[in-house]
Amino acid sequence: MIFEGLAEKLQNTLGKLKSKGKLSEKDVKDAMREVKLALLEADVNFKVVKQFVDKVKERAVGQEVMESLTPGQHVIKIVNEELTSLMGDVQSKINFSSKPPTVIMLVGLQGAGKTTTAGKLGNYLKKQGKKPLLVACDVYRPAAIKQLKVVGGQLDIPVFEMGDKVSPVEIAKQGLAHGVDSGRDVVIIDTAGRLHIDEQLMDELVNIKSELRPHEILLVIDSMTGQDAVNVAESFNEALGIDGVILTKLDGDTRGGAALSVKAVTQKPVKFVGMGEKLNELEPFYPDRMASRILG
Ligand code: GDP
Repeated sequence: MIFEGLAEKLQNTLGKLKSKGKLSEKDVKDAMREVKLALLEADVNFKVVKQFVDKVKERAVGQEVMESLTPGQHVIKIVNEELTSLMGDVQSKINFSSKPPTVIMLVGLQGAGKTTTAGKLGNYLKKQGKKPLLVACDVYRPAAIKQLKVVGGQLDIPVFEMGDKVSPVEIAKQGLAHGVDSGRDVVIIDTAGRLHIDEQLMDELVNIKSELRPHEILLVIDSMTGQDAVNVAESFNEALGIDGVILTKLDGDTRGGAALSVKAVTQKPVKFVGMGEKLNELEPFYPDRMASRILG
């Protein structure tokens, strides 16, 4: 089950409200205290939690809810709507350029799942009838280029590479030119990651951005790292400007904090989620479906 601990606690708390006939203001407040604790335990950013709980409380102690015949259901509906809103309301899609190729730049820290996600995204787009090209710009992580080539081979997607002795900016430029020449309509740039955010990494990414003017800069973050992932997203967004987030490893034992906080903190939506190591395990992110999965 996704976000098991959080889902269980929310369902328990809200289930208790459902079994009551009438609700008092105290019932709602007590339940919201439990909701707050559950969200904090799930590693959701505390400011986000406070705003969320205040909003639900404000709506839930209203006359309409208190006087309704099924007030518990009503409160659950409000929680569902506010959770959905927290995650961005509607699905955020990729912006395709009206003049192909669409350039998608993938950025992120080492180990977040960037190279795997480059392959997954290529595979997803290929299934939609696109002709992607993968460009290997991660010249620092040993074996990253080889890894991308293996992934491309498995998916039958071409990979452009120039080894690890050429600067990433140059590889990106030549990769794009190659994509244009060979009639590819999406060029996915797998940039380098580092273990930590540093100036050199950001400078390099800013350079690639200004050379290539990508249509999408997507940040790959590891959902297992919770609020750290959200801090990473904030830093990348400030230094580089991102268009959206791909949240990996949602299939693991993750508590939910990153998925629930990142949009509210950065104002940038989650566009896709990684649901496993396999190259077909990437899904578009639907805030409403995620809220319903959490609330059962
Ligand atoms: P990079 O350093 O960011 O390029 O990271 P990699 O693409 O090499 O991925 C690091 C590890 O995370 C690899 O073992 C991947 O198989 C794994 N990984 C990536 N995405 C997912 C995911 O959505 N779920 C799971 N369970 N593992 C993932």
